[in-house]
Amino acid sequence: MSLLNQSAQSKMTSSGRLDFQWDAPPAPGEVIVVAPGILWARLPLPFRLNHVNVWLLEDDDGWTVIDTGCATPEILDIWEKLLAGPMGGRPVVRVIATHGHVDHIGLSGWMVDRFGSQFIGTFAEWMWARVSHTHDMPGSSAAHRDYLVNNGLEPSDAEELVSNRRGFIDLSTPLPGVISEIRDGDVVRLARRDWRVIVTGGHAFEHASFHDAESGILIAGDHLLPKISPVIAVYEMMPAADPLGDYLASFGKFDDVADDTLVLPSHDMPYRGIRERIRQLERHHIERLDAVVAYLKDPCSALDLSRKMFPKVEGLANLGFALGETLAHVNYLVRIGTVVDVSDSPNSALFQATI
Ligand SMILES: [Zn+2]
Repeated sequence: MSLLNQSAQSKMTSSGRLDFQWDAPPAPGEVIVVAPGILWARLPLPFRLNHVNVWLLEDDDGWTVIDTGCATPEILDIWEKLLAGPMGGRPVVRVIATHGHVDHIGLSGWMVDRFGSQFIGTFAEWMWARVSHTHDMPGSSAAHRDYLVNNGLEPSDAEELVSNRRGFIDLSTPLPGVISEIRDGDVVRLARRDWRVIVTGGHAFEHASFHDAESGILIAGDHLLPKISPVIAVYEMMPAADPLGDYLASFGKFDDVADDTLVLPSHDMPYRGIRERIRQLERHHIERLDAVVAYLKDPCSALDLSRKMFPKVEGLANLGFALGETLAHVNYLVRIGTVVDVSDSPNSALFQATI
């Protein structure tokens, strides 16, 4: 989701050798021209991470909007200002979601309905969002409850977290019913440029970034944020997944992105210095993996481990996010054989390091 882990945030405020071209983001309802035909707008989010950047690309037939924010009255109001103001009343002909998290895809359906736009995205993210942003999807709540209890939560706390999901679901208008699928390596033409689609796992199942080597621009979504580590978390529908393995393996897909490329992230400010940023993110996760191994000298539930990994986290909802992030590191170590589940019960996991 868009909530980013506190501990990572406090550890990663140093921006190293990254270069930031702009000092301030666009005001609500206004835009900054980042390159000819590419406008940057910012929408306020009702989370601790309080904003998302969206990109407006202009062509002869109208606009392409990359990410739409979520369904709040404030964001709808800002879209009206953007559409009537900087976008000149011209239609939105294409809506693209970098991935299926609600702060990115939440208003896609609303915008597609309004303009009859084409909806473009990766199949897994669209499908994931359609499943996750639907109330009472059969099986979902039971799977979520089991996952939380197996990892150490009291049943009453698990129940509260399961019902909290409804808040997220309500932040999305019904998802578009039809998708134009993009896949890794595809080329899409937007704002008179050819963009190579880079699909990566880790933060989401099939997150799409868009690279134009000629102009030196990468629209990076949540995959390579400048200041905070994107959430890399296990979710209840795939409890044995290894999203951290996917994330670390994804960096090679950016090898041919030049270091002076302007990176347009969904949160914080555009930056240059992608090589340094990838090094920082790699180092961060390797340090976290080392910490997990040290904490798991004695058997420990994922919940107790989350409290050690994220000592400043308060509140049940944030603990739920911490649990998902902790399990991402645990599952990576389980996959490489450095951690094993030593519990003798199928309904509770207890992890221990083997070294
Ligand atoms: Zn996201």
